[in-house]
Amino acid sequence: MLDAIKGFGVTFSHMFKKVVTEKYPEVRKPAAPRYHGRHILNRHPDGLEKCVGCELCAWACPADAIYVEGADNTDEERYSPGERYASVYQINYARCIFCGLCIEACPTRSLTMSNEYELASDSRADLIFTKEQLMAPLLEGMEQPPHPMRLGDSEKDYYVNALGNPGTSAGAERAASSEQQATSQGGAV
Ligand code: SF4
Ligand code: SF4
Repeated sequence: MLDAIKGFGVTFSHMFKKVVTEKYPEVRKPAAPRYHGRHILNRHPDGLEKCVGCELCAWACPADAIYVEGADNTDEERYSPGERYASVYQINYARCIFCGLCIEACPTRSLTMSNEYELASDSRADLIFTKEQLMAPLLEGMEQPPHPMRLGDSEKDYYVNALGNPGTSAGAERAASSEQQATSQGGAV
């Protein structure tokens, strides 16, 4: 009998506590600024890709969630200012545990994480995000690669000129993906 009264006492005491139920998805609370959400592949200020296809992120990933295939840039077809770029880049969100080790490993600050957390899907195939889905949107002054280096003729000049403008590495954590941008503009990427 005493135990039953104690049990009802717990129930009764909770009736006067503040309700903490989130009204999701009607009300989407903003995530903490450093929340580990969906990844973004960033761009230089002229639109070239920061990713050089080195695969260090894939090697650092404890969940084997990243797949990269590198390829050579040519003067006629340039995607990044370095020798190489990622011709294929995929992140499997059925595997990713959002630990952030991949972004720590990235030498070019190409890979960062956004605050986006709505990644659920009932299809495993849809959880494999492609490079096109992960690329940061083209901001004002940027041009869709392939194109020549616009910030300098040599790699040194390019990187020195890029120092004054971080491209999409700064604030990319809150930027919409190029796919979302295309959707909102009603067009294709
Ligand atoms: S956040 Fe962690 S688990 Fe996810 S892709 Fe990066 S290293 Fe792999
Ligand atoms: S995202 Fe960074 S670490 Fe991964 S392949 Fe590209 S440059 Fe290398």
